[in-house]
Amino acid sequence: MSEQRAAARDAVLAWYADVARDLPWRRTGDPYAILVSEVMLQQTQVARVVPRYEDWLDRWPTAGDLAAADRRDVLAAWVGLGYNSRAVRLQDACAVVARDGWPRTAKGLRALPGIGPYTAAAVASFAFGERVAAVDTNVVRISERLGLGAPDELLPDDERAATWNQAAMELGATVCRARVVACDACPAAAWCRSAGAVAIPERAPRGSRVRFQDTDRYVRGRIVAALTRDEPLPAEAEIPAERLDRALDALVRDGLVVRTPDGPAIAS
Ligand code: SF4
Repeated sequence: MSEQRAAARDAVLAWYADVARDLPWRRTGDPYAILVSEVMLQQTQVARVVPRYEDWLDRWPTAGDLAAADRRDVLAAWVGLGYNSRAVRLQDACAVVARDGWPRTAKGLRALPGIGPYTAAAVASFAFGERVAAVDTNVVRISERLGLGAPDELLPDDERAATWNQAAMELGATVCRARVVACDACPAAAWCRSAGAVAIPERAPRGSRVRFQDTDRYVRGRIVAALTRDEPLPAEAEIPAERLDRALDALVRDGLVVRTPDGPAIAS
């Protein structure tokens, strides 16, 4: 097993050296820039993140700059990138870093506000060179399909660990995807127990899927966008008051919004 694992890993690393997409966060070892990219990528596709990431770093180039920014500006700059609470946690994490400095291990990074195990491992690996597996859904899927061991068993025990983390994610994002599986283009196919035999789970029928506009998340996004721009909240004809109120309650619970005598406002 360990020989097969090593051979598959070498093949994936060689493949990655050829095909790696040139993404701006792969050209830096700055933990802040890597953290920003990882948080943005949690909800949004790479092509949409690239310009937003570059604008963000132009505006707030360091953790200290982001920590000192007005929260309304931070939330306004996040509009369209998914869950607004991520922007708040990112700013809160940067406030801790600005005060105490960067933790240099995944364990230390986990203690920052809103940093989960995957993000902590990614920053520790890409910025600080810690040998730790960054395990996102892509990596879990690949290791399950390969059948050569758990994600941390696939990790090389040498200086290639960070590159392996990138390579495994790239394989999951471009070749061994959840619903589109290109085994004939896969560098690991010769060692993979699932090659050519992946069962793709069925999608829910179209009519049973909930439209994004019908979700609470959509309403929360609309509220935050309006408040950061000093615009009125969506009218009753567009979003019924009951839905609006429920979304407002959730935003207040999350600490993003406060209710004031003049109406809701972004929490500072
Ligand atoms: S051979 Fe197919 S199932 Fe196996 S890792 Fe490659 S793309 Fe995924």
